[in-house]
Amino acid sequence: MENLRELYQEVILDHNKNPRNFRKMEHPDGFAHGNNPLCGDQIDVYLKLKNGIVEEVSFDGHGCAICTASASMMTMALKGMTDSEAHALFESFHHALTEDAAYPEDVPLGKLAVLTGVKDYPVRVKCATLAWHTFDAALRKFQGEISTE
Ligand code: ZN
Repeated sequence: MENLRELYQEVILDHNKNPRNFRKMEHPDGFAHGNNPLCGDQIDVYLKLKNGIVEEVSFDGHGCAICTASASMMTMALKGMTDSEAHALFESFHHALTEDAAYPEDVPLGKLAVLTGVKDYPVRVKCATLAWHTFDAALRKFQGEISTE
């Protein structure tokens, strides 16, 4: 179990040090600003949608290691999904971090499972879910600020 935890930490550190798709997107189809005042995480999430498929997701801003790693992994996980698949993954990820039991309709998290280790730390849960809330808002083409509070 200790090795597994170390592996998880390595994955999170790697994504924090080298965040994937960390850039502002020109002419996004949707974007939203996410704010987690408890930690100081502030990120923007951008997306491109084509025929209902998530073509590209990127983010910028500044966040803690958990926030940045979660956003980085999210941009990779969502690419190529339909908007409804992306929404379902967001819901499943959110359930995994906030509920004791998985819901029957939850979809497998794959690599994102490494982030569920923050479940026992409610403050960190907000760091890990910020990018996802922000993405979901961007998906709904809501343009404004999303706050965890
Ligand atoms: Zn944070």
